[in-house]
Amino acid sequence: MKYKVLAQACQELEKTSAYLEKNKIISNLLKDTPSEKLEMVVPLLLGRVFPAYVSRETGIGLQQLKKAVGRSTGYSEKEINKLMEELGDLGRVAEKLTEEKKQMTLADETLTVEKVFQNLRKLPRITGEGSVDRKIATVSKLLTSSDPVEGKFIVRTILGDLRIGVAEGRLRDAIAEAFDVPAETVEHAYMLTTDYGKVAKAAAEEGERGLSKLDLSAGHPVNPMLAQRSENIQEVLERMGGEAAFEIKLDGIRIQPHKRGEDFFLFTRRMEDYTHMFPDLEKPAGKSIKPDKAIIDGELVAINKDTGKPMPFQEVLRRRRKYDIRDVAEEIPVQIHLFDVLLSGETTMIEKPYTERRKELEKIIEPGERIKLVEHRILGDPQEIRKFRTEALSMGHEGLIAKNPNSTYRAGRREFAWLKIKAEAETLDLVVVGAFAGKGDRAGTFGSHLLAARQPETEKLKTVSRVGSGFSDEELEKLTEKFEELRVGGKPSNVDSEIDPDYWFKPQEVFEINYEEIQKSPSEAHTSGYGLRFPRFVDIREDLNASSADTVEDIDRLFKEQEKRKP
Ligand code: AMP
Repeated sequence: MKYKVLAQACQELEKTSAYLEKNKIISNLLKDTPSEKLEMVVPLLLGRVFPAYVSRETGIGLQQLKKAVGRSTGYSEKEINKLMEELGDLGRVAEKLTEEKKQMTLADETLTVEKVFQNLRKLPRITGEGSVDRKIATVSKLLTSSDPVEGKFIVRTILGDLRIGVAEGRLRDAIAEAFDVPAETVEHAYMLTTDYGKVAKAAAEEGERGLSKLDLSAGHPVNPMLAQRSENIQEVLERMGGEAAFEIKLDGIRIQPHKRGEDFFLFTRRMEDYTHMFPDLEKPAGKSIKPDKAIIDGELVAINKDTGKPMPFQEVLRRRRKYDIRDVAEEIPVQIHLFDVLLSGETTMIEKPYTERRKELEKIIEPGERIKLVEHRILGDPQEIRKFRTEALSMGHEGLIAKNPNSTYRAGRREFAWLKIKAEAETLDLVVVGAFAGKGDRAGTFGSHLLAARQPETEKLKTVSRVGSGFSDEELEKLTEKFEELRVGGKPSNVDSEIDPDYWFKPQEVFEINYEEIQKSPSEAHTSGYGLRFPRFVDIREDLNASSADTVEDIDRLFKEQEKRKP
């Protein structure tokens, strides 16, 4: 299949913003794609070459990519930088320069989807001496064989933003339309596989029957179910129909243990494979999880050796860079507290109600020193719930989570079936989209950051605040190093901002932010319509990515709650 077909579809998608029209373009592309190529075309349409759960960096940043464009078109870095300023996007620069190519190399081969896909996939594997140069050579070779539109989208794929307004949610409807299957069936198949490429292929080859054959598979991460915020215990009971299951909310990181015969895996909330970081858990987990095959859900917590109490988890994530993993395992023992089961032996559990899953969990787990079950109680009396919450807080936990006893496991969803009941002042988890250059003492660092909240309906990130305090010098330096790698040439297409920071970042990292007050119509024009008074940086949430940050709706709710509390 020619890459041109895909690039042309992307070009059309970039030009239209109408939902139905976009759907038509995608569904036509999917229909025209031979089914065995769908597992390449679908990720490429989302601007990536690995499924969402594989976080593999290409190791090519903006600067290297500029070099590749220069090499393939014969333009100097200076000329490229100048055009960059004009066009704001290296993809468009590549398009323009390919049109005007100085080095008249005849494109000797037609680019195929396979060729682009395989070459981009190769990038993370190029390592060792001279690897940067070899990576640049690989990309520039692709660009040399590209026409202008192909070049534009190859560059944007490497930058991770196609700027065509296609996010995962949209694929559900396009696949449904292309292969004439119900959207809910497509969604369900996606919950099980977390892979629209696989889903599209099954739908293309065997329609609804093909989709119904897809299932969970141990070793393959599932997008975890998330919890909504709640305002108070009364609201919780109303939403849950008078009674709910209450569990302790532990402060650790979400972890999804998988067992497949002798194999054991641990996946994070971002669906990254963390198995290697906790070699000391493999044996205890293998023993505690009784079925031969299982997918379990839980929280990984670090224990203070002296007090036996849980300790802030960010400590562990930080230490992992400083020490050898085996030393850390000794120094900071970890435990997994389990609260759900998705797959037990051959039985898929996610469609079964919470109470049934809990019963199964208790049946298949033999708790030990490292593997525990989260404490849970079915309660309907507000007094008793408050008592449980006080107990949890005094044990050093974050609060409680209420779970609807009849709810199924909704992979990747943040709905009202699970509700957080916290005690402390709320913080916000916001996406870092840009930064301003530091001045004075902070020269040479990103002195302050621009933060945004999600708006799932529009798939946009809306700005909420800048944050320039709460960082230690050391933190600021480390963050600068980290964000340097995430720099992109212009405003990412899913960011909606009226503020123009000095630098734009690939919207990926999340800051936890403390504030004194949420302001409606703040003095600075933020596209969320809200602003924060005295925002302070608390931490970088290494366990979250942009898709699990707080939403404008969350802020709206917190704002209303705050206003209610005012005298
Ligand atoms: P938050 O990160 O504030 O959105 O809270 C949701 C997170 O709480 C989940 O992703 C889990 O990592 C964590 N958590 C701790 N205890 C539980 C529990 N019993 N059930 C579900 N999630 C829990």
